[in-house]
Amino acid sequence: MDQKYRTILLFGAPGTGKGTQGHALGELPGFYHCACGDVFRSIDTSTELGQAFLQYSSKGQLVPDEITLRLWKARIKHRVKSRDFRPEQDILVLDGIPRDVNQARLMKDMIDVLKVFHLTCPDREQLFSRLRSRALRDNRIDDASNTVIEKRLATYDSISKPLMGYYGEDRICHINALQHPAKVMHDLLQEAVPLLD
Ligand code: ADP
Repeated sequence: MDQKYRTILLFGAPGTGKGTQGHALGELPGFYHCACGDVFRSIDTSTELGQAFLQYSSKGQLVPDEITLRLWKARIKHRVKSRDFRPEQDILVLDGIPRDVNQARLMKDMIDVLKVFHLTCPDREQLFSRLRSRALRDNRIDDASNTVIEKRLATYDSISKPLMGYYGEDRICHINALQHPAKVMHDLLQEAVPLLD
């Protein structure tokens, strides 16, 4: 690939609203949203890959990097080919990937990370209650039990959070995820829109 995709990352613990914000942002011309969890959930669960995904996600664990990257690259290339994602005019909005420092290293030749939006929520109870309501709404097995949620939050703290050190404070924009989703979007757009120029 000769040109890296111009990219912004949505970053934050499970339940902070990355999917909601990413989806809304992706509706606007100039932004293309790709959520890694959605890519996984779209796989047929009767396939080997689909089974591997269930095996890890149902325990609150991350899918191994090699599988994740292979799948993600294939999906993005497909979206470029279908012209859903037009890298020459769209900013790629990634949510859920890269998820750890190793994934960031493996992706560094493909993405030019312009900004990292860190959705912050120090209130664990809020995250639990958001994830529990999502479990009911979206029938997500990884949100269904407190033990799995605990494990995912712990994985975020130990494996994903160090990513912020990798990208560095000057690229990170912290946004309070406990605000109304429209206010979160407002804060996000204030920083993301100038990147379109
Ligand atoms: P959340 O943001 O609430 O954790 P996601 O939909 O992003 O939920 O991810 C659901 C599950 O999919 C994760 O718990 C993990 O098992 C798997 N997954 C998603 N993205 C990645 C990734 N980049 N690397 C490894 N596993 C991933």
